[in-house]
Amino acid sequence: MLSPVDDALHAFILALPKTETHLHLEGACPFELLQKLDPVKYAAPPPFWADDFRYRDFEQFMLLYLEYCAAFFTSAERYHEAAKIVLGRCAAQGCRYVETSFHLPALAFLRESGPEVIRAIRAAAPRGLEVRVFAGVSHNDYTGAARELIDDCLAWPELDGIDLHGPEDLPVEPWTDALWARARAAGKFTKAHAGEFMPASFVDLILDRLQVTRIEHGVRSIESAATVARLLRDNITLDVCPISNLKLAVRGVPTLSAHPIRRLFDAGVAVTINSDDPFFFGNTLADEYHALHHHLGFSRSELIRVAANGFRAALLPDHVKRTHLADLARLSAELACAG
Ligand SMILES: [Zn+2]
Repeated sequence: MLSPVDDALHAFILALPKTETHLHLEGACPFELLQKLDPVKYAAPPPFWADDFRYRDFEQFMLLYLEYCAAFFTSAERYHEAAKIVLGRCAAQGCRYVETSFHLPALAFLRESGPEVIRAIRAAAPRGLEVRVFAGVSHNDYTGAARELIDDCLAWPELDGIDLHGPEDLPVEPWTDALWARARAAGKFTKAHAGEFMPASFVDLILDRLQVTRIEHGVRSIESAATVARLLRDNITLDVCPISNLKLAVRGVPTLSAHPIRRLFDAGVAVTINSDDPFFFGNTLADEYHALHHHLGFSRSELIRVAANGFRAALLPDHVKRTHLADLARLSAELACAG
């Protein structure tokens, strides 16, 4: 355990209405499904679940993804099976709203169409859990069969949005700016990974060029006061994943207690917390809340404020957001009375 066991806090965290807005479906692949597929290969728990495991770099992470999970996602049915467990776990942890993404170019190898895969993911959502599905695209994907999928996906009514992901140090190619603008014109929500491995200047570049209002990670924004000021001025939300950052040895995160989310939160930046690729980090959403409390001194009322940021950023109608935020405000008032 990265954080000490605290039963009372655990009950509080589970009961807290929460969101998960940075969750790669393939990176959340349930281990039991891999074991069912190949009990011998997957007999032992993966080494990267150990608390002290650190990835050498993002390349090692990608290689382990290929080794463990890539071969699993071969049909819409497999996406459905995985999503059923992943989304069920989100709901069991008190999540009321989830944004999950899948790697769009991988669909080129499937028999089913993109809309069929997305419908299969959506059909796996337990009752009461709102799910939005995003297509993830890497910086260098606009080529071959993937290019066709990228152009086509903007017309899929089942798709809620697009997200730029993958190795962050590759150049942002010129097609990206136009595609992100076309996506918004087509009614899709747009976000992008930045400021995980690349510095604050890259967050600025992505904000300038892709005009997004949500940045996945964005933690290295802390390196520039001007970038932090910009996040505040333009009301940009950062979908942060502290345990992922620790295990991927992101610069500035040698330990959880050094994680910049404390300083970003204190500066007033809208941060959410999320599990990113729980299969590869051995984490749960509840673990992320525990980590904020135990390693970064977030009080219970501050954890409520982090959860509220998730609902503010969610792609939900205003009246639904207000209901969730009212539930959180009630919890906050109860805490104040008890305190
Ligand atoms: Zn991510």
